[in-house]
Amino acid sequence: MKTFDLIVIGAGPGGYVAAIRAAQLGMSVACVEKEKALGGTCVRVGCIPSKVLLESSERYAEARSGIEKHGVKIAKVELDLATMMKRKDDVVKVSTAGVDYLFKKWKIERIEGHGSFVGPGRLVVGKEEFGAKNIVIATGSRVAPLKGVDVDGDRIGTSTEALTWSDVPEHLVVIGAGVIGLELGSVWRRLGSNVTVLEYLDRILPGMDNEIAAEAQKLFARQGIEFRLSTRVKSATAKGKKATVECDGAESVTADRVLLAVGRIPNTEGLGLDKVGIEVDQRGRVPVDAHFATKTAGIFAIGDVIAGPMLAHKAEDEGVACVEHISTGYGHVNYDAIPAVVYTHPEVASVGRTEEELKVAGVPYRRGMFPFRANGRARSLGELDGRVKMLAHAETDRVLGVHIIGPRAGDLIAEAAVAIEYGASSEDVARACHAHPTLAEALKEAALDVEKRSIHGG
Ligand code: FAD
Ligand code: NAD
Repeated sequence: MKTFDLIVIGAGPGGYVAAIRAAQLGMSVACVEKEKALGGTCVRVGCIPSKVLLESSERYAEARSGIEKHGVKIAKVELDLATMMKRKDDVVKVSTAGVDYLFKKWKIERIEGHGSFVGPGRLVVGKEEFGAKNIVIATGSRVAPLKGVDVDGDRIGTSTEALTWSDVPEHLVVIGAGVIGLELGSVWRRLGSNVTVLEYLDRILPGMDNEIAAEAQKLFARQGIEFRLSTRVKSATAKGKKATVECDGAESVTADRVLLAVGRIPNTEGLGLDKVGIEVDQRGRVPVDAHFATKTAGIFAIGDVIAGPMLAHKAEDEGVACVEHISTGYGHVNYDAIPAVVYTHPEVASVGRTEEELKVAGVPYRRGMFPFRANGRARSLGELDGRVKMLAHAETDRVLGVHIIGPRAGDLIAEAAVAIEYGASSEDVARACHAHPTLAEALKEAALDVEKRSIHGG
């Protein structure tokens, strides 16, 4: 039996990052992955391909309408969907090859196949058995099914299929106004589909700050996305080239394609958890302590397969903290400082607590707000929609949450995450020099507005 200091099961952003960090710390490391390509959901069928299509579709949409305000006239704009999809596939290929390169660089042994526990410290892959002092479960998640919705992979698909369609559906129904529904709904709306989003709740983007989510809904509706809120989907059935979606107490909808996007569930099937005495929780997740240890010595879990937001950077940080703790006795993830970004147009980004959470927790806070329309760089970009909202503790002034809707919100949120990580006050952010003219000045102005001394705010 071949043995290692550490075996990681799963080569997604949680697993491959954990493997690299462990190798950097001097461990002998193997990584078991059942797919041919490394990188997990994120690189193969998630973050990367969706962001490529968001970028390409945005350029197409701008060329069709919007670029003329910059004095650029384009006589004829045509969609070459095949080239757009090929570019997406090429970016994915380069990215998975990048993980291969890193595995070779750090001498991480790649084991291809489905990993399954046969006992503590022992795994079987195919017919071969492998052993390790420590094993990290990083098996990620897959699309959550919805009772009554028959995903046929053609008319009714998941995010994986919606990243590959070879024609633009005339009418697309999206089930779920979460991150996937809005990102992929935006892609196909920009490419020409009529998009109807059916959402069970009375709002979009659950978990995001209410005010910011309401503004997002208004802006997406202006782009032509139709929202039907408080609508619970109970079935979807394909027939020929169409699919019909039935809802509780609301009209049914027939469309050319349906995208099911009601969340994701952890991957633990066939992992042999019963052989090592691990039971999953009510939501199918592997329970762990603050150091990612399961109740069985030498077995750890990170990423989408454990509790917390299903985000690639959260999985990565857990991978690093987990193996650093194994190796050094220290390792920590600050869950108050994990940003979340929705890559729509405009982008929506947040870090820390929402106003609603602070109210429920009874934390006294002050808020500062700054609209992008008062920011010089936003005006030069022609991106006037949106705002930055900063929430700071009413007594200590410590930054508790930052919520942004607007141009490049996903990049701007990094400053807010660093501020929260370092326990900065709104005054610290306000007094830090921000280059002019930049979108980041909107963050400084929102910080100034906490004390009602914004310079450029109305
Ligand atoms: P995964 O990336 O799911 O990797 C797990 C790996 O384990 C997989 O490769 C799987 O094949 C392998 N595996 C599972 N079981 C076994 C086994 N028994 N043996 C061997 N191998 C196994 N997050 C963001 O932060 N930003 C985004 O922009 C973003 N966009 C997304 C877009 C879409 C369409 C989707 C679906 C997700 C997106 N996410 C995004 C979420 C992100 O992809 C996940 O949070 C992230 O991939 C989780 O990483 P992970 O390593 O825990 O698991
Ligand atoms: P989600 O949890 O974000 O949203 C699912 C939505 O579906 C919710 O609003 C829910 O109320 C709704 N819903 C549930 N049942 C329904 C029903 N019967 N009828 C109508 N609506 C219903 O899930 P998602 O959008 O599928 O995304 C899955 C995960 O992937 C998320 O956790 C997210 O963090 C991650 N992700 C992240 C990014 C990013 O970071 N940019 C992008 C894509 C995915």
